[in-house]
Amino acid sequence: MRRRTLFAVPALLLASPARAVVLGGRIEQGAFLRGRAEPGTRLALDGTRVRVSPDGAFAFGFARDAKDRARLDITHPSGARETRLLTVARRAWPEQRIDGLPPAQVTPPPELLERIAREREMLRAARAGHDTPEAFFAEGFLWPLTGRITGVFGSRRILNGEPRQPHFGLDIAAPAGTAVAAACAGIVRLAEDDLFFSGGTIVLDHGHGVSSTYMHLSRLAVRVGERVAQAAVIGAVGATGRVTGPHLHFEIGWRGTPLDPETALPPRPQL
Ligand SMILES: [Zn+2]
Repeated sequence: MRRRTLFAVPALLLASPARAVVLGGRIEQGAFLRGRAEPGTRLALDGTRVRVSPDGAFAFGFARDAKDRARLDITHPSGARETRLLTVARRAWPEQRIDGLPPAQVTPPPELLERIAREREMLRAARAGHDTPEAFFAEGFLWPLTGRITGVFGSRRILNGEPRQPHFGLDIAAPAGTAVAAACAGIVRLAEDDLFFSGGTIVLDHGHGVSSTYMHLSRLAVRVGERVAQAAVIGAVGATGRVTGPHLHFEIGWRGTPLDPETALPPRPQL
């Protein structure tokens, strides 16, 4: 089988090297993109290496505020080099106002800053500190639960009237206790039941720097280091951390850059 593939494919690739690397999805700000390359291809996005699995799967993403142009450097298995300039479409981000939050959660008191900094570093390390060679992400992502979307990726946030950093996740409201499933198979990198902002929090590593994060959980069903299958129950919806009601805050990231989960997920389920 393998020999036949090696024999049949190169003619096509030589005739059209551009086809040797295929990107799935729309190239836009916040996008998570999965792709396929001929095994042995090397890739770099704006100078950052993009890992390609032995069977040619890769993934990368564009930040919420990505510039209009990106550069994909391709080294084909033959050694031939190609540079593709990608045009990154701009998106307009909505504004979301949330009032009635406890003031200490909008502007934390100084005695909590050390804890908050420590927890931020734990999250950063869990999401960006791994370059796992397995390409779990190649199977795609599923919704971790069905619920009402109450917050989208990228929105500009005004909390109790004060502008704060953008919202980097997707908020899915559901009753407390609703099961939360792994959106994709992976390895648990963080499982903490009481972070200041995010309460019960889980980070899964889907390989090649791709991660998903689940926040405000009332219950955790996994431990750090455990491997989980896609759709396995990892916890339950809660209202822990900085929230106004029970919901899941769900994030997808690549090498620590938060991306729009809706660019990785199937269309919103009909409720
Ligand atoms: Zn959120």
